[in-house]
Amino acid sequence: VTNSTCKILDGRKEADNLEVQLKKEVQQLQKKFNLTPKIAIILIGHNPASLIYVGKKQEKASSLNIQTLLYHLPSATTQDELHELIRHLNKEPLIHSILLQLPLPLSLDSTAALSQITPLKDVDCLTPENVGLFFSGRPRVLPCTPQGCLHLVNIWKKDITGLNALIIGRSLLVGSPVAKLLSNQNATTIQAHSGTKNLHLLSKEADIIISATGSPHLVKKNWIKPGACVIDVGIIKTSDGEIIGDVDFEEIRKVAGAISPVPGGVGPLTVGFLMKNIVEAAKNSL
Ligand code: NAD
Repeated sequence: VTNSTCKILDGRKEADNLEVQLKKEVQQLQKKFNLTPKIAIILIGHNPASLIYVGKKQEKASSLNIQTLLYHLPSATTQDELHELIRHLNKEPLIHSILLQLPLPLSLDSTAALSQITPLKDVDCLTPENVGLFFSGRPRVLPCTPQGCLHLVNIWKKDITGLNALIIGRSLLVGSPVAKLLSNQNATTIQAHSGTKNLHLLSKEADIIISATGSPHLVKKNWIKPGACVIDVGIIKTSDGEIIGDVDFEEIRKVAGAISPVPGGVGPLTVGFLMKNIVEAAKNSL
């Protein structure tokens, strides 16, 4: 039996709407200030997923008339060479933002490299200063994937005060900042991770579940409180090349009140909010 009341949270449609606005903003910046937002993207090595993600970011930027400058460096790049490039880009006045595509090859220290990016040009909220500002409640820039998750939750319900939210995952990229954004909106948050016991019991109590683990179909139908909102952040490529998430979409839509698909949920909004941060960084340079 299909639950006809389950709302499918269409990230692609939401991202399209956001991008229409951003395109207008970019036109205005060009017309009024002769300013074209410009981002430098640093990609090291040939991680297949990273190549795809960078391609998507470049394509989207170009469709919004945002300029991208790709620095595709060999896997053998040293830490010093990487830091030197970042310091050079920090000083370039016509480059408004810098994105270091993660993960880096194992020989490189990503925390050290991210620390080199000048916080004003950081559009991922990953430099120590911006992370500190974000978690102390005075954000300079909002992280992209967490913004995408919150946007989808707020389509389901604008006011989430007092609701129980279970966040599965504690990374600095997704799990931890998502928990902070939901708590800022007065949800009661529980953050689970690989050491959590009885995840299925915690999830039964949750009005909102955000799963960001990369563990295929971890979240099961009998974990879901009927009517709950389920956001799937996971992106997993199966051996036959299919992209799936942390959530068994077809099963869980039968009980959930709202659910985001993979692909077509959080992913497009992550790119959309990245474009927004790039435009903001350019505006802040005025
Ligand atoms: P990560 O590996 O840094 O973190 C994974 C987290 O999940 C960890 O905190 C770990 O403790 C937890 N975890 C793993 N297995 C678990 C289990 N069985 N039970 C409970 N907790 C478990 O990954 P990340 O960077 O946070 O990304 C998570 C997933 O989201 C990946 O699949 C990634 O590809 C995807 N992702 C998607 C987007 C997007 O735009 N849609 C953006 C970033 C990441």
